Amino acid sequence: MTQRSLVLLKPDAVRRGLTGEIISRIERKAGWQITALELRTLDTETLEQHYGEHQGKPFYEPLVEFMASGPVVAMVVEGERVIEGVRALAGPTDPIAAAPGSIRGDYGVIVRENLIHASDSEESAERELKIFFPGRV
Ligand code: ADP
Ligand code: MG
Repeated sequence: MTQRSLVLLKPDAVRRGLTGEIISRIERKAGWQITALELRTLDTETLEQHYGEHQGKPFYEPLVEFMASGPVVAMVVEGERVIEGVRALAGPTDPIAAAPGSIRGDYGVIVRENLIHASDSEESAERELKIFFPGRV
């Protein structure tokens, strides 16, 4: 089942010089391909679309501010069960609950600054890919 996922390496990952390390983990998975990749600073409008489901939650405003605080690496990753697969590599949202060996478990402490976003379903992927790579996917 070939899928596409929208993956963002968040501003904390870029600031801390962890993008190469995280991209390596994704590249090493057999049969997965990074088919688009861009360093980009996100504007509030894009983030409001991307995180629309979280509007009104207490963490929403600081999340948008954090995500706009510096460049992110935006990627399209394609391959076998890649949606579930990148989520598994990332680990759960709270890095303290994430197992060692996962990206969040190895490098994260703060819930907001958890290094990586990855689409959580085929529907989310389709919606998010249109926001970040319109016309390209
Ligand atoms: P995920 O990124 O694992 O899909 P969610 O969609 O629930 O997680 O939340 C989106 C992002 O919002 C998280 O990755 C994290 O950066 C931030 N976030 C979620 N819950 C909290 C929280 N309780 N406090 C602070 N930030 C949060
Ligand atoms: Mg989510």
